[in-house]
Amino acid sequence: MYPVVAEITEVFTAGRSAATAWKMALAGAVRDPDELVDLLELPPETREGARRSSRRFPLVVPRGFIGRMRRGDPRDPLLRQVLPIGEEEEEAEGFVADPVGDRRATVLPGLIQKYEGRALLVLSNACAVNCRYCFRREFPYHETPRGFTAWEPAIRQIASDPSLNEVILSGGDPLVLSDAPLERLAVALADIPHLKRLRVHTRLPIVIPERVTEDLIGWLRGTRLTPVVVVHANHPAELDENCGRALERLVEAGLPVLNQAVLLRGVNDEADTLARLCEKLLEHRVLPYYLHQLDPVRGSAHFHVAESRGLEILADLRRRLPGYAVPRYVRETPGAPSKVEIG
Ligand code: SF4
Repeated sequence: MYPVVAEITEVFTAGRSAATAWKMALAGAVRDPDELVDLLELPPETREGARRSSRRFPLVVPRGFIGRMRRGDPRDPLLRQVLPIGEEEEEAEGFVADPVGDRRATVLPGLIQKYEGRALLVLSNACAVNCRYCFRREFPYHETPRGFTAWEPAIRQIASDPSLNEVILSGGDPLVLSDAPLERLAVALADIPHLKRLRVHTRLPIVIPERVTEDLIGWLRGTRLTPVVVVHANHPAELDENCGRALERLVEAGLPVLNQAVLLRGVNDEADTLARLCEKLLEHRVLPYYLHQLDPVRGSAHFHVAESRGLEILADLRRRLPGYAVPRYVRETPGAPSKVEIG
């Protein structure tokens, strides 16, 4: 079984007795391309490409997220982010397996260190949604540790490096894991005197808003470390009422919440769309943080938007929005000491 699917299955087999709404939503996500085509009444010609490309990178999409998509429209901007299509099989120059240099920045299995003062833990090989443009779609997740005992070497490494002040919990999506192991990890990290901040990179509050539970808020608020939550939404239609409420709960709990988006052709490559996204984020008190240039991962070339076009869009956003509402337009370059601001 593909590792992403295997982990989700495992999460739910283990947690069935204490199943909560978010776990059921995760377990019940659509993974069969034919089911997605049927549910959304997509044209028959989408079926074959969806089947083929999902063999390389499986389809995963929660039903609640599907509920925000238009029926019968293969160009729906939310669907486009998750529907496997034939173009993913086309090779494109410069589009590679590891576009951001994760391999060379891996210090220990599951521990990535790229930038001064920060270390990133790959805690999970699963996500609630498999984004077709994901820069980690070919990440060697089978090499990364699973569970607290397996994380201990990475924790010891972080403890031995006083130059670090921030740890980023990532994956996959760290919030597909239950709160108990995450809280245990947060406690262990808070015991390391030189650490100051704990950042969580997650798409769960967007695609399964039920994931924002009392327990989650409890351990995030309870840690000595300054918590920062970075969510990932690309289009205003992702932010429905439930999602907005979930984001507001995080903010009302005193947690800084930022959004990162990826500039994607056919999804959000219009200033109108991004302006509406930024406005909607602010309405829910989330700050637009980054707009990423697409990382050139193999299979995603059909999402590419030229940087010159991205700069035009940014200029338009600057005219329409207050400065704090305009995300920073950045690209990640393997080996660079920080993200590079474009323009
Ligand atoms: S949620 Fe993030 S890590 Fe998961 S597939 Fe999407 S982009 Fe990749």
